[in-house]
Amino acid sequence: MTQVHCTRAQTAVLQLLRQQPEPISAQALYTLIKQHQRIGLATVYRALDALKRMGWVQHRVTLAGETLYNAVEQDHHYMTCLHCGQSFPLDTCPLKGLEFSLQHSSSFTIYYHTLEFFGLCEPCAVQDG
Ligand SMILES: [Zn+2]
Ligand SMILES: [Zn+2]
Repeated sequence: MTQVHCTRAQTAVLQLLRQQPEPISAQALYTLIKQHQRIGLATVYRALDALKRMGWVQHRVTLAGETLYNAVEQDHHYMTCLHCGQSFPLDTCPLKGLEFSLQHSSSFTIYYHTLEFFGLCEPCAVQDG
């Protein structure tokens, strides 16, 4: 994969996403990026959209309906509590082996995958019971 077709805005958005320790909303990304350059929120959304189609950026929708973006090489997975909406990150990715074998056994080009578990966190489970 190369970045030759990226516009200036796309490159800036991607670079900033790669520096984030956690997935981030478009609005938060816009707030960060406009400290360094003149850019509109619509441009940030367009850049994110283009980067998604190129397989550089993935997104996740939280229970609250917020869309969070991250660079695909930052492979984040979560356990999300349906009661309080908190997401707990997994330490590892259990899908690396499967992705590798699919990549080699099928003609489908895989850019990234998603995985999320849903249920109840411990405090919420105690409360419910
Ligand atoms: Zn909870
Ligand atoms: Zn993964």
